[in-house]
Amino acid sequence: MKRNDRSRHFRTMLAHAGRPPRSEHGFVNAPLHRGSTVLFPSVAMREAYRGKALDQALVYGAQGGPTHHALEDVVAAIEGGTRSQIVSTGVAAVTTALFAYLRSGDHCLMPDGVYGPTRRFCETIARDMGIETTYYRPGLDASGVERLMTPRTRVIFAESPASHTMEMQDVSMLAGVAHGHGARLILDNTWGLHFFQPFEHGVDCSVQAATKYIAGHSDVMLGAITVATDADWERVRRAALVLGHYASPDDCWLALRGARTLAIRLETHMRSGLAVAAWLRDRPEIAAVLHPGLPGAPGHDLWRRDFTGACGLFTVAFGASFGPAEVDAFADALELFGIGASWGGFESLVLPTSASITRTAGALPHPGVLCRFHVGLEDPLDLIADLEQALARISSATRSAGHEGA
Ligand SMILES: *Cc1c(COP(=O)(O)O)cnc(C)c1O
Repeated sequence: MKRNDRSRHFRTMLAHAGRPPRSEHGFVNAPLHRGSTVLFPSVAMREAYRGKALDQALVYGAQGGPTHHALEDVVAAIEGGTRSQIVSTGVAAVTTALFAYLRSGDHCLMPDGVYGPTRRFCETIARDMGIETTYYRPGLDASGVERLMTPRTRVIFAESPASHTMEMQDVSMLAGVAHGHGARLILDNTWGLHFFQPFEHGVDCSVQAATKYIAGHSDVMLGAITVATDADWERVRRAALVLGHYASPDDCWLALRGARTLAIRLETHMRSGLAVAAWLRDRPEIAAVLHPGLPGAPGHDLWRRDFTGACGLFTVAFGASFGPAEVDAFADALELFGIGASWGGFESLVLPTSASITRTAGALPHPGVLCRFHVGLEDPLDLIADLEQALARISSATRSAGHEGA
């Protein structure tokens, strides 16, 4: 069932994967097919197709059409899997993957730094269905993870690095523990994208918020679930169909357009992100930069071992002079960084995050106030100048407030 040619390089694959067959009138791009009903020339022909939903046969709109399947081929190639299922959002990709592998009475392990809505699913619908979740410290070693495994543990989940606190997990180690207990390893690979090849590290099922870099232009919501084996495909595809997942083909078409430039965008996000992170590291207001791709930063050794690159998302911890109010004022003072959720678009973002993070298995990675940055495609010199003016403005306000108080 190997559908993607992995002999070519990333950029070449992005330019050629999921392109239409010759039957599409010769146009370069995949066509946009909208549709609910699919017509058949005879009842017998329809019957012959009906049992083939797992094979992406075109039977009914809800099972996806040519535009979906073109994007699915591209996403599977990006992650080095064999097949991918597109769903409406990244959150839907996470929950569908969990529904695919977990049943009532099962137990799963989640990293304590996991994306908030993933934790919310575990604490609401999953818990109500009798699925129990234990949160593990992201840095836990193999024997620590082993101790959390129970005979009912069916899934270990990883998100490496965690998208707010940037804590790395040793995915290969987690795969070894999971498989030793007959469990599956699901990874939220939104940060790692192509830079972390999940199936080379024992991951069974990889989820992506395609909303982020794959779409890349802050104008689309989409999720993807990618697998490497027929057995995993059957579970995931069945869960998505039974739950009634669907994504707009218009959005898939936009994501396909975005994916063609993914490699060159990522190169710039990485380079500019590292430049901005290194500049922040040397600022007196900043106590720590949490960017796994930055030498000396937490998780850098694991990143060097397993990743071939980094995206533009990282977090900083402010020093004691910047409390929550000063960090909020700093974010407000920035002119080029938008304040808002999500990331992976062409534009830079900032988000003070400490207040919205829940931890139950240990402390946050740093005692300082955390603030997350997405470094976009602007010139990094302008971004650094903007950071400098905002830091200077808040530092001087803090100093004069200190004098008044003294
Ligand atoms: C944004 C995000 C998601 C959810 O994606 P949406 O498309 O916004 O639903 C899931 N996981 C991670 C790590 C994310 O950053």
